[in-house]
Amino acid sequence: MTSINEQPIPAARPVIGEEEIEAAVRVLRSGRVVQGPEVAAFEEGFSELVDGRHCVAVNSGTSALHMLLLGLGVGPGDEVIVPSFSFAASANAVRLVGADVVFADIEPGSYGLDPAAVEAAVTPRTAAIMPVHLYGHPAAMDQLMPIAQKHKLAVVEDACQAHAAALNGTPVGAFGEGGTFSFYPTKNMHALEGGMVTTADAGLARTLRLLRNQGMEARYANEIVGANMRMTDVAAAVGRVQLTKVGGWTEQRRANAAYLDAHITAPNVTTPPVAEGARHVYHQYTIRVQGDREAAMAKLTEAGIGNAVYYPTPIHRLKPYWEPDQKAGRNWDLPETERAAAEVVSLPVHPSLGEGDLERIANAVNALGESL
Ligand SMILES: *Cc1c(COP(=O)(O)O)cnc(C)c1O
Repeated sequence: MTSINEQPIPAARPVIGEEEIEAAVRVLRSGRVVQGPEVAAFEEGFSELVDGRHCVAVNSGTSALHMLLLGLGVGPGDEVIVPSFSFAASANAVRLVGADVVFADIEPGSYGLDPAAVEAAVTPRTAAIMPVHLYGHPAAMDQLMPIAQKHKLAVVEDACQAHAAALNGTPVGAFGEGGTFSFYPTKNMHALEGGMVTTADAGLARTLRLLRNQGMEARYANEIVGANMRMTDVAAAVGRVQLTKVGGWTEQRRANAAYLDAHITAPNVTTPPVAEGARHVYHQYTIRVQGDREAAMAKLTEAGIGNAVYYPTPIHRLKPYWEPDQKAGRNWDLPETERAAAEVVSLPVHPSLGEGDLERIANAVNALGESL
């Protein structure tokens, strides 16, 4: 039971502080509110998180994925290999450009694409691989990049949950042809809404800048067909404030995770493993529960501990994917995806937690004991 002086601990807590508010007001008073100097400065600042790659800001993480696939020329007739254990946006971006989604299974530890499953899924139609750095843990890029090179496939990193995560010292978003980030309020840093595409290819960066703005560099001199995926300067100004804090917040997330790793001792509960060489940024702190997960979650909620399942339904089982696959007689073999969807529970790990909160979270998980 939550006692009177113990407030429930929320699963996530987006920060909109005085600095963010002042930055937004400053932009509103300036009159330059769209695709102006704040956006350019945000792109330049963000580039430091991705080894100096070109950064192109857009209005959401989904737009970033969509635009990057358009920019790479992925379209009808192409296949893209995607994990089914992700947010639907990963696969939606592929379908939005008219390409076909091919689901591959995940590794049980990192929750990222399993390199062997990817290798087995490559066909003559494969155009790209989309590793998702789920929960803030980098996918096995050291093994996925050589597979992509061998088959001449583009790599599109979905780093929407993994700002400043890294593998063997290379930040996510700096491995593939392009990387994508989200600045939705619950992500490790936000810009109200927003996204970023990162790439080492200056030509691709220019194409992306055209695509986000109706295909125009010079006004009314449209060079290609494009959309409007522009970021506002209000969003960019908020993002710039968050950029100054994300380093400290990430260290706090990692310290919170280390506390939970050390103090969660319940049998039948597995704390999140970290691959060798991986820098996990804990967008989510996700345990596995062997036993009655629904009962365990109800008990955590009763104890005032925010908790959630990301994601209870793998993408291949969602209607817009499941129905066409059923019709075509396509059945994906994704045992680790199915097992993860049935076992995972994410606990609060956000930087606003105090030591007392962390103790309560660990105690509540340990108290599940018998019920599992
Ligand atoms: C949040 C998220 C996205 C989409 O980002 P939005 O900014 O919400 O459009 C894509 N992929 C993953 C894995 C995400 O978590």
